[in-house]
Amino acid sequence: MAMAFLRTMFTKKMNDEKNILWDVFTAKSEYSAAEKDEYGRVSSKFTSNKELLYPVVSKYLHKSGFQPTYPGNRKFAVCLTHDVDLLAKYDPNYRYVPHSFENKVRHTAKKILGIKEPVQLNPDWRLEKMISLDKKYNATATYFFLALKKNEKDFNYELEQIKYLFPLLVNSGCEIGLHGSHEAYRNLSGMIREKNTLQEIAKTKIAGYRNHFLRFSIPETWSHLASAGFVYDTTFGFADHIGFRNGMCYPFSPFNVKTGNFFDLLELPLVIMDVSLFHYMRFSYRDALEQCCRLIDEVESCRGVLTFLWHNNYVTGEMGEFYESILKYVYNKNGWMTSAIDLVKWWREKQYSQLMQELLHTLKQ
Ligand SMILES: [Zn+2]
Repeated sequence: MAMAFLRTMFTKKMNDEKNILWDVFTAKSEYSAAEKDEYGRVSSKFTSNKELLYPVVSKYLHKSGFQPTYPGNRKFAVCLTHDVDLLAKYDPNYRYVPHSFENKVRHTAKKILGIKEPVQLNPDWRLEKMISLDKKYNATATYFFLALKKNEKDFNYELEQIKYLFPLLVNSGCEIGLHGSHEAYRNLSGMIREKNTLQEIAKTKIAGYRNHFLRFSIPETWSHLASAGFVYDTTFGFADHIGFRNGMCYPFSPFNVKTGNFFDLLELPLVIMDVSLFHYMRFSYRDALEQCCRLIDEVESCRGVLTFLWHNNYVTGEMGEFYESILKYVYNKNGWMTSAIDLVKWWREKQYSQLMQELLHTLKQ
């Protein structure tokens, strides 16, 4: 009798834990999150996942037998990504209506004659620096480009005028992805238009996506991304907190709580963004490094993938040194530092999504 009671209690406890993990994985609490910031983002304060610094769902899957491997028998991977928000110095001809009479005349004359000023690239933000720094540590990366028009919010460069960069990136083994504009996350036609623009100018197939400012709406953005033909997204992380938004450090197909189906898309959850460390969480360099190393160790312990976002405009000075210390740490641990598309290809080749979905079903009661 007592044994039967204990067995029932144990089973109930196990089932409760599974329910919690399933809810964390699906980010169920975010569907109804009323509190959003000025960019429509859910704050980390309003998630039911209270263990943001531990990949709780991945740990469960790993314990249940999920053991991914990586090329060269490596134990874990870092998906290296660079969002290209800024490339050019302030240029009054592009960004603002010039105030002085002389400027106004020059501006109007150039407009009438169709003369385009070349973008003045800031030498400190040049992608060549980033490419060679990553290369030093045997890493390749994904570069996400904005496809903005001059009058759009945060416009800084024209794709046409930086197109010499695209073959440079591709020939270095890097990937080009779309950095969706402010509103693209909730505007399917805008998202498709931006994808086509980048595809045409970069002359390469665009498979990956990250929205500017990590703006994202669950589940609409995943739905739009799948409809727009993206293979993967890597926006899904909290802007105001590092860690594992839905307890995952494996690429996964998101589950739509509203329809009960998995999306035909891979999500590479974003774990660390530079701005989260220093702007939102206000870490010192020392504390930030400690936190990053701890998260890398967590990911290594369940043979996972840590997606890392470092903006190209932080490649010099103290921020550049900090970035290099992360590269060094992963390099010394023999982690695979690569682009998102290389990880997605590997994940597909090994059929890890299918394997993982079977295990995830055991969480679903
Ligand atoms: Zn951005």
